[in-house]
Amino acid sequence: MPTAVISDIHGNAVALRTVLEDIASRGVDRIICLGDIVGYGPDPLECVDLVRDRCDWALMGNHDFGVLYEPTNFNPSAESAAYWTREQFDAEPDAELREQRYDFLGRLRVRVVEPKPLAEGASANGDGTMLCVHASPRRPINEYIFPDDVTEAPDKVQSIFERVDRIAMCGHTHVPGVFTDDLDFFPPRELGEKASYTFSADEKIIINVGSVGQPRDMDPRASYAIIHPDRVEFVRVEYDIAATASKIKAIPDLHDYLGDRLFDGR
Ligand code: ZN
Repeated sequence: MPTAVISDIHGNAVALRTVLEDIASRGVDRIICLGDIVGYGPDPLECVDLVRDRCDWALMGNHDFGVLYEPTNFNPSAESAAYWTREQFDAEPDAELREQRYDFLGRLRVRVVEPKPLAEGASANGDGTMLCVHASPRRPINEYIFPDDVTEAPDKVQSIFERVDRIAMCGHTHVPGVFTDDLDFFPPRELGEKASYTFSADEKIIINVGSVGQPRDMDPRASYAIIHPDRVEFVRVEYDIAATASKIKAIPDLHDYLGDRLFDGR
């Protein structure tokens, strides 16, 4: 059964709704979320409600942590967005719903290990596991694994791969692609017309699914991935960027740049 993997929604409900429609249109009915549901964007409550409703489970990202506990190492615009987001959760007049949302955020896990999806009729023996984190297998909430790290910081990438059994999945950098344990990185545009990477039994890979609500690979379309038994497929979806950007600009606590960057995917 294919699983859609979404991450880094960042309070962008217009992008999230468009992605959920795209997933449904492909007949994929299982969705998991790698965190950063909120932060930066104008619709944190709607995004949390949609993820609660539609995803099998979700992980804790550094921005979810920042809103719930404290913003750690945030730049000024991210910090101000985190405090504004917290105010939105606090301002919910329905006490029960307010508690449910906080309870949901408070129970987000930092890592989940799943069996690798199997082809129909295949046996699970030895097919390995899939480790899911927001950031990195070494530091699940805060460590960035950048594409350049494969050349600039090979020791770091090797050390991270030591914590991977077969497949790991993450978000956090908002840059989609596949890291291989021979220290290479493949962005989706290098993966052919179908933007898909076929798993091989003799290598470990780390898959970054990109960002639904704030892509940073110079492609402004919402990004997510679909995991099949034999491959990962990267998907991009156009959404109404102007709608989200104008909501951001109407909220003084959200810096205008947070809207502007969406048009360029940076
Ligand atoms: Zn993020």
